[in-house]
Amino acid sequence: MPGVGLPPLEQNLPPIVLRNYAKWVDHEEVRPGVLKHVAESGEECYTVRAGMPTNARVSTVLARRIADLADDFAGGHLRFTRRHSLELVGVDPARIDELIERLRGLGLPVGGTGRTFRNTVSCTGWIHCQFAATDAPAVAKAISDELYEDFLTERYPAKLKISISGCVNQCGEGSTADIGIVGIHRDLPRVIDEEVARCEIPLIVSVCPTGAIRPKPPKSVQVDPERCIHCVACAAPCQGMQIGDPETDGLAVVVGGKAGNSGNGPAFAKFVIPYLPNTPPRWPEVTRAVRQIVEVWVQGARRDERIGDWIARIGWDKFFQKAGLPMSDKLLDGYVLWPMSARTGVRFHW
Ligand code: SF4
Ligand code: SF4
Repeated sequence: MPGVGLPPLEQNLPPIVLRNYAKWVDHEEVRPGVLKHVAESGEECYTVRAGMPTNARVSTVLARRIADLADDFAGGHLRFTRRHSLELVGVDPARIDELIERLRGLGLPVGGTGRTFRNTVSCTGWIHCQFAATDAPAVAKAISDELYEDFLTERYPAKLKISISGCVNQCGEGSTADIGIVGIHRDLPRVIDEEVARCEIPLIVSVCPTGAIRPKPPKSVQVDPERCIHCVACAAPCQGMQIGDPETDGLAVVVGGKAGNSGNGPAFAKFVIPYLPNTPPRWPEVTRAVRQIVEVWVQGARRDERIGDWIARIGWDKFFQKAGLPMSDKLLDGYVLWPMSARTGVRFHW
C-alpha cells in the first residue's frame, strides 16, 4: 500500500542510499560542502552541499538548472535541507570538482558543513506576511554576504547557525539558533473601532498572551500599554487591530540557542541586543553586530563549543563585556529571568 500521505520515500532516494539503507557505519567531512558516508558493504557515498537563495526562493529557471545538475551528477535525485541548502547525493568523487564549478556557475556556493557558517534560515517576512517588522529574507542575505567566506572555509570552533524572523512569532526559529535576528514592533496596536466592531471581540481578547486587551463598549477593545508586549497576536483575528510603524519597528538579536542535544543540550537563545534600526537594503547595524559576536566567539571558544555552550562556560557577564554590548533592562527577561517558554520570553516594554 503506498499510503495516503506524502509520496513514498523509496521513490525519491538515490539507488546508493536504498542499497545501504540503515547500514551506514561512518561519515566524515572531506572538505567544506563535501561529505562522505561509508556503508557496511564498504560502499562510499559522496554528497555535495550548496547554499540556496535565502528563504529557499528559486525561480523555475534556476530549479530546472539544478535539476539538470542532479540528473548529470546524482542520478536524478536531490535534497533540500532544513537550513535551505541543496544536497546532491551519490556524486562520483572524480567529478566533485566539476560539480562544484557548475554549482558556482549557478551562483550556489558549496560549503556549509562542519565548523562553518551554515546557510541562514529565515521566515517570509515582508515577502508576504502582514505581521513582519522587517524584511527577514533580505536581512538573511545581508548576513550571508557578510559571512560568505565562513561558509566556504572552516575557521570556527563549531558550526554557526543564524536564523531570522520578521517578528517575535519567530517562525524563523531564531530562539534555537546560535544567533537569531528578530523583527520587533514597539508601537501599541492601533484599534480601528469600526473594523473591530465587525470582529469577534472575545476572540481578540483571548488571543492576547498577557491579558492586555479588554472590551470597550459598545463594541470595541482597548489595549493596556503596561501589559502589551507587541507580539502581533491580536492582529491575526481582526484587521481592526493594526500593529507596525516604520519609525519605531526594528530588530533585536538573540544569542546562544540550540535545538540539538550536543554540548550542554538544547537551549533557548537570550536577548542580547534589544533594538537595532531597520535599515534596508543592507542592515549595516545588524551585520556589524553579528560580526562582533562571531569574532569574540571565534577568539574565545574551545573546539566544538557552540556559542551558547561557550557563554555557559564563561558566563553571560563576561560575554557582554567581551562582545562590547551594553546591558539594558530590556534584556532582563532574556538574561536573568528567562522563562521556559519563548512565547512568554519575548517581552518588550518600550
Ligand atoms: S515570524 Fe512573524 S513575520 Fe515571520 S512569518 Fe512568522 S508571523 Fe510572519
Ligand atoms: S500585540 Fe500582543 S500583547 Fe499587545 S495587545 Fe496585541 S496580543 Fe496583546
